[in-house]
Amino acid sequence: MPDFAALREEMVERQLKRRGIAERALLDAFRAVPRELFVPEAARHAAYDDSPLPIEAGQTVSQPYIAALMIEAAGIGRDDSVLEIGAGSGYAAAVLGRVAGRVVAVERHGELAALARARMEALGYSNVRIVEGDGSGGLPDEAPFAAILVAASGSHVPEALLEQLGLGGVLVMPVGERDAVQRLVKVTRTGEEDYEEEDLGPVRFVPLIGREGWGDGEGAAEALPERLRAAAEPLPELDDPAFAEAFDRFADARVVLLGEASHGTSEFYRARAEISKRLIERHGFTIVAVEADWPDAASVDRHVRHRARRDGEETAFQRFPTWMWRNAEVDAFVGWLRRHNEGRGREAMTGFYGLDLYNLSGSIRAVIDFLEAADPEAAKLARKRYACLAPWSRDPAAYGRHALSEGYGRCEAGAVQMLRDLLQRRMDCLAEECDEWLDAAANARLVRNAEQYYRVMYQGAAESWNLRDTHMFETLCQLLDAKGPASKAIVWAHNSHIGNAAHTEMGQVREELNVGQLAKERFGDAARLIGFGTHGGTVAAADDWDAPMEVKLVRPSLAGSYERLCHETGIARFLLDLRPGALDPALEEALLEPRLERFIGVIYRPETERWSHYAEAVLPNQFDAWAWFDETRAVTPLPGGPPAGAEEETYPFGL
Ligand code: SAH
Repeated sequence: MPDFAALREEMVERQLKRRGIAERALLDAFRAVPRELFVPEAARHAAYDDSPLPIEAGQTVSQPYIAALMIEAAGIGRDDSVLEIGAGSGYAAAVLGRVAGRVVAVERHGELAALARARMEALGYSNVRIVEGDGSGGLPDEAPFAAILVAASGSHVPEALLEQLGLGGVLVMPVGERDAVQRLVKVTRTGEEDYEEEDLGPVRFVPLIGREGWGDGEGAAEALPERLRAAAEPLPELDDPAFAEAFDRFADARVVLLGEASHGTSEFYRARAEISKRLIERHGFTIVAVEADWPDAASVDRHVRHRARRDGEETAFQRFPTWMWRNAEVDAFVGWLRRHNEGRGREAMTGFYGLDLYNLSGSIRAVIDFLEAADPEAAKLARKRYACLAPWSRDPAAYGRHALSEGYGRCEAGAVQMLRDLLQRRMDCLAEECDEWLDAAANARLVRNAEQYYRVMYQGAAESWNLRDTHMFETLCQLLDAKGPASKAIVWAHNSHIGNAAHTEMGQVREELNVGQLAKERFGDAARLIGFGTHGGTVAAADDWDAPMEVKLVRPSLAGSYERLCHETGIARFLLDLRPGALDPALEEALLEPRLERFIGVIYRPETERWSHYAEAVLPNQFDAWAWFDETRAVTPLPGGPPAGAEEETYPFGL
């Protein structure tokens, strides 16, 4: 059971105070209302997330910050009488009950009204009354109100509501298109017939349905999908050579980063492969760096660059999530790359590298094996230094727990020293041995960073995420450096690593950075970030870490998301160029309003999709381009052995 009191306190600090909510009584009210009791059982663990959550009847409870923003803007006093329209779960009404004298909250869904009423009784809010019905016309019999909060969006502020404000009273309501981003509007009654209006910024609410609001089931505004359709460049089938041609415009970059919105979608893998082939064949790219563990990718690299296998080398990608790399789509690309490299000089070959740091045991083994061949005395020392980590290398998370209880990183010094020693051996990188040295140095760096990563994991998610993405970016830079100033790299990773985190909830709320952001900071326009998205279909993913892979249905994208907008264009595949100046200003402005974006990882939980897989983002700032595949299919995982015809002794996926 999560520690809800601690999460609530953290929510108040991070989500409310840090964003400028300052009123003491209001902050205390948020500290006191148990949000976990206002959401369905299954959403309880996410009760203090910085987002709206789905509740019964297909509605949502507002994000805590938005509720706080509305209540603070209303300037409510101790004795005031307040009307809320759209009680939903009753959460905002309960908070209001703690800062106002009397609250009436109207809810049109009987089911929600009954639940909210029961909560008020159970929690003892005797000054909050829940009324079932259409509140869009207010409650004239109970007017005037010092404040009216409308928790659902309309195309305009209903006149009837303004008339029910007392003098000096304030109404706060989201106004704008249905199922899109709206403006939060504050209206103050300054005289009998006088009102002042203020804009509190962009928000997204469910529609106000009723006499003074939208009709039930009325369609969304059509203008935006229309404009997007005009800007989208339809893409041909993936196996049509013209598909990759559309990406030539990004080929002058030093680094092209391709981000997939899942870890199990065939179209994403195939698209990345086609774009990469083109960049390799025509534009001088010689590095493919992927979100995979270094030692595992190193086996693939030996295969594609026709290098000998290392003695004792493990079969690549045997640990969860195996399908992410052991799949038919990757295998086809690996086969192509091997053929492409055939007969080329070392400089002209393209390598395949892993940026990630999870295979600690593989990396330890690789460092020792390298030294075993290069300098047996040094290998002995390496064994001694890494012995500290060895007991944990199969379950490094346990090392993190252990280090935490001991209060320090017992194995840190050895890992740091080992890396220093290896870096001092720097070899002449034109020689063949350079590959071996590069590999060993990368593994030693990985061991050092992984040691830190697992320790930091227990201090907080943001710290360990940042360490991992920084490690990935540094590994990329090492590769570029090792191959010289003219080298060019392609990166394959998840969207959450590629789309500039500074323009998503990740960076703005959770203080997380990522590879895409670091690449932009370092390379500017010479780094091109390209995101991939989909509306629905199937995906390969698991229910939990270490659980078996399943082919799961991808839910149709949510109303109000970038994905839904792309879907509404009706185009099966398209490229949207987001570089400055590429979009018409009206479309750019509309796309710059933050919207939801979907992130499916190796874990996909459709039942809690809204809060486990969607986050707010600003697409045109996040990416230089967006590649859309409306309907997509799961990747084809490879069985244990190699496909027929793969008899080369370096074949990486096991014989
Ligand atoms: N303040 C709520 C958030 C509610 S979401 C909370 O804290 O949980 C908006 C709610 O407005 C939905 O539950 C929806 O059913 C309700 N709603 C929409 N139109 C309405 C109307 N005309 N009258 C009353 N409620 C309405």
